[in-house]
Amino acid sequence: GSPVDPAAGPDEAAAEAALRPQRLADFGGQPRVADQLGLVLSAARGREHVPDHVLLSGPPGLGKTTLAMIIANELGVALRISSGPAIQHAGDLAAILSGLGEGEVFFLDEIHRMSRAAEEMLYLAMEDFRVDVVVGKGPGATAIPLEIPRFTLVGATTRAGLLPGPLRDRFGFTAQLDFYDADALREIVSRSAQRLGVALAPDAAAEIAGRSRGTPRIANRLLRRVRDYAQVKADGAVTLELARAALALYEVDERGLDRLDRGVLEAMCRRFAGGPVGLSTLAIAVGEEPETVEEVAEPFLVREGLMMRTPRGRVATPAGWAHLGLLPPNNRSD
Ligand code: ATP
Repeated sequence: GSPVDPAAGPDEAAAEAALRPQRLADFGGQPRVADQLGLVLSAARGREHVPDHVLLSGPPGLGKTTLAMIIANELGVALRISSGPAIQHAGDLAAILSGLGEGEVFFLDEIHRMSRAAEEMLYLAMEDFRVDVVVGKGPGATAIPLEIPRFTLVGATTRAGLLPGPLRDRFGFTAQLDFYDADALREIVSRSAQRLGVALAPDAAAEIAGRSRGTPRIANRLLRRVRDYAQVKADGAVTLELARAALALYEVDERGLDRLDRGVLEAMCRRFAGGPVGLSTLAIAVGEEPETVEEVAEPFLVREGLMMRTPRGRVATPAGWAHLGLLPPNNRSD
């Protein structure tokens, strides 16, 4: 989960897993991606062939891991999971790849954060289902080619543009996941409530959906927080009023901005006069990693029209100022 969410705890991962849709037909809210992927999978099944490698890109929490699990499920094969930062040496990758079973799915999260050497090994593996294992050191070192089982790589990245061209080109299918609309999120929240056995009023579901930043993970997380609140403060049934009170307690505003989003916007307006301000300066001002600001907060703020990324830096828009109840500098009378 997001490192910045104050409400994220150790049992969040288990709670998240319990709410994951298992089949493509249940993966709502991204109809285009689901249709395209469905076609890739049934065509491959028809040819009794391993499907092409799949690249999933998009902000965190939109369902990349879920889709990888669904792909393996639909193919009836096992899923192996790793991530770019976990693969420090090419040897780590060689060990995983040679341990795969025929036709299995290998999910590689944060694929853009892999080491260079591992990346080069991956090219060969994706194309020829072969890895070169280097034995020995210095002048006596030799590369021994090793055949690996045919597999489908499902790579995930927050932005496809972060990948080197040669790696991107080796994916047969690329899906860009977008933020979910309010209707889709409302359905996801209602379904999750059913699974959790929570009585959730329809208007309360809509309220949670509207504050979820277009993101199913956040929708499910807010639902769990609202459920906690209703259980402690009332009889457990979630009314609109209870949902609003709970969301206010967790500092999620009407538009769905959380502490980090607001922090970024406030730093921009109050400390840097609305910008332009560089990403790393902004990150220091809010006490976060630049990556977190760039990949977690900014996509949503930009999509909401509250800020812009310009060549000279980040800039708050008039709507951004207005959201904080402030006036942009040139509109000020003082
Ligand atoms: P990250 O890149 O941060 O790991 P992710 O894109 O892999 O994020 P997931 O872990 O797949 O996101 O999804 C997060 C949560 O959102 C899960 O609990 C999952 O159940 C839920 N979710 C995602 N997409 C959908 C969907 N289309 N329908 C219902 N629930 C969904």
